[in-house]
Amino acid sequence: RPVLVLFRDDLRVADNAALAAASRSGKPVIAAFVLEGASSGARPLGGARRWWLHHSLAALNGTLATIGVRLVLRRGAMGEVVDSLVTESGTDTVFWNRRYDPGAIAADTTMKAGLRNRGVAAESFAGHLLHEPSRLVTSTGGYYKVYSPFWKAVAAGPEPRDPLDVPDGLEPFAGNLASDAPDAFGLLPTKPDWAGGLRQSWTPGEAGARVRLDDFVAGALQDYAEGRDYPAYQATSRLSPHLAHGEITPFQIFAALQGAGSDVSGAGAAKFRKEVGWREFCYHLLFHNPHLGTRNFQPSFNAFPWREDEEALRAWQRGLTGFPIVDAGMRELWETGYMHNRTRMIAASFLTKHLLVDWRAGERWFWDTLVDADAASNPGNWQWVAGCGADAAPYFRIFNPVLQGEKFDPEGRYVRRWLPELARLPARYIHKPWAAPPAVLAESGVRLGETYPRPIVDHRLARERALGAYETARSAP
Ligand code: FAD
Repeated sequence: RPVLVLFRDDLRVADNAALAAASRSGKPVIAAFVLEGASSGARPLGGARRWWLHHSLAALNGTLATIGVRLVLRRGAMGEVVDSLVTESGTDTVFWNRRYDPGAIAADTTMKAGLRNRGVAAESFAGHLLHEPSRLVTSTGGYYKVYSPFWKAVAAGPEPRDPLDVPDGLEPFAGNLASDAPDAFGLLPTKPDWAGGLRQSWTPGEAGARVRLDDFVAGALQDYAEGRDYPAYQATSRLSPHLAHGEITPFQIFAALQGAGSDVSGAGAAKFRKEVGWREFCYHLLFHNPHLGTRNFQPSFNAFPWREDEEALRAWQRGLTGFPIVDAGMRELWETGYMHNRTRMIAASFLTKHLLVDWRAGERWFWDTLVDADAASNPGNWQWVAGCGADAAPYFRIFNPVLQGEKFDPEGRYVRRWLPELARLPARYIHKPWAAPPAVLAESGVRLGETYPRPIVDHRLARERALGAYETARSAP
């Protein structure tokens, strides 16, 4: 009787505990991916991740074929599809790696009970995270709400295990199970095809992830601690979409750092481990706060007077706020499905503080447009920036987008790349075109209000308004 392995947020064959267990069972192996509908419980993927998923599934299909396993693609509710696959194939065992989105946890728990009721062995495995969020507890038995002690507790625990090898000698399943064609999933954009920039920027799939990791460890890692804050540099790993789709695991990343020789104890590797730790922390928070994506972590923010301002939200989404560092970030996002962490923080701060738009509207936009949109890291970081999250930046610390631009993009390289209409402005005005003398603007081909917008808010007034709103929320009964 065959064993069925489900692929979900783990589109890889290396370091895949469920697949490794199937291999050890000695039974024929069936691999399946189920595209779930909106009612499945798991958060439906946004457009950018759907694009990625299409290509990642194609890559997985190819890799599985090299180890003799066929990938069956089906659509529908996970539990129901798995039930029919069990019936059609005569499977008596189903394995999968755990998911941590609260809706997905609930769906998987129900599925496990249903399978066991039918007499089918169902087992789930860990692998998406270095630690299981349910197991890490504080000395008083609660969960961690502050990052530093959380990471200290993780670091005090056992060393991350070694990654698992790609199984070989798998027995293929001889039966014939119907499979959807990948195109039938309809994951790719049709008209308009907005994915050109994504195609140029990324290689979805396990092999692409491995290349990124190896390149990063051999190169940018050395200067990561200093370089990671500068959006114009290629100083970070860009592994986030690969991690979101489970094409690579934190265990593989940690093992690669071990192999990085002299830098293992260096500042770059230490900082990088801590950043991967933020991903873990966000999952820890999500596990203990299933409504992290919709409810303020700090209830004191429930009375916050957010503004409904469709026009401002739209200007922000399009990268037309008139603040170059914000607009450059938003255009990078639209073009490539990615935004540098520094500009994510600046853009998110601008939306929630300068425009006073609810962080949930920004979170939703990121969810739809990021190739690394993550059910834990996206709301976790949005809440952190907005001031209502766990261990959050204090609300009253309001980024000045001009100073942020001048500090982290001093020559304006990042702005010039994403806002070609400002490319010819001298560095001293690149983050504040409105301050440039008319002759300089004319010489640079910039016509404010025509080729590039004037600022949609005044920084000083917006700051005062935000602080006033914060006071209102704080003094609410
Ligand atoms: P690197 O600097 O190379 O870091 C390595 C890995 O560590 C990342 O791939 C990521 O998995 C993890 N990491 C780093 N910083 C963070 C962080 N602050 N929080 C959680 N994990 C982190 N990251 C996502 O993966 N998905 C999201 O949906 C997401 N939304 C965000 C929204 C906002 C408003 C902000 C401010 C940050 C968000 N981040 C999100 C975190 C961070 O910006 C990205 O993880 C990072 O920019 C990815 O680039 P990288 O892989 O080159 O990062």
